[in-house]
Amino acid sequence: MENNKLIHIAIDGPAGAGKSSVAREIATRLGIAYLDTGAMYRVVAYKALSLGVSIRDEEQVTALAGKIKITFGPGGNPEVYCDGQNVTTEIRSPEVGRAVSVVASYPGVRECLVNLQRQEAAKGSVVMDGRDIGTYVLPQAEVKIFLTASPAERAKRRHRENILAGKESNYEEVLADIQKRDRMDMERKHAPLKPAPDAIILDTTDLSQQEVVETIIKIVREA
Ligand code: C5P
Repeated sequence: MENNKLIHIAIDGPAGAGKSSVAREIATRLGIAYLDTGAMYRVVAYKALSLGVSIRDEEQVTALAGKIKITFGPGGNPEVYCDGQNVTTEIRSPEVGRAVSVVASYPGVRECLVNLQRQEAAKGSVVMDGRDIGTYVLPQAEVKIFLTASPAERAKRRHRENILAGKESNYEEVLADIQKRDRMDMERKHAPLKPAPDAIILDTTDLSQQEVVETIIKIVREA
């Protein structure tokens, strides 16, 4: 990567593979923007739940996705806002975690959020993490990474994060939730979770976060 060259980095993969921590650090190291697209789907699920809209009501959930305003804290700050309300903690609840893949399977919801994601990419260099960034949102991205790890390792990491954050956590439940979400994300009709044909697949089961970051930075510098 030459200095000042525009670069779009797509990081996709299943739940708990470490995408957001890795993507955020890469964005900071390269001094470029970061967009957590999963947080956007989570905001839609959170808003539906908090308004009492049934998650199964595709029409109402889709209408909601078109109406709400999703914003992020400035300069890579991890805060997420829905219509001006700080929902950073709320969107990580187990209830939102269980509802989000249903909401994300609706084509109208996806269309709306994908438009916003592409608008962000049009502004300049960005690291974007999600499920369909390399395959659908930014098929022209210069660097595409598919991060994965065994389900047991991913559940272990999520469980540890929950405990460190002072949340109640049960490893077996975390594993079951992750496996269910993966299945729904992989089996949905519209933009399912799968590596782009030109993505570099990185299995992080035995790698530290630092090792993953360094590996990707090296790939970016060579791009
Ligand atoms: O990344 P995170 O685990 O927060 O994403 C939550 C959910 O949002 C995923 O399980 C998936 O259903 C959905 N999602 C998606 N496409 C993206 C990002 C997330 O469908 N680009």
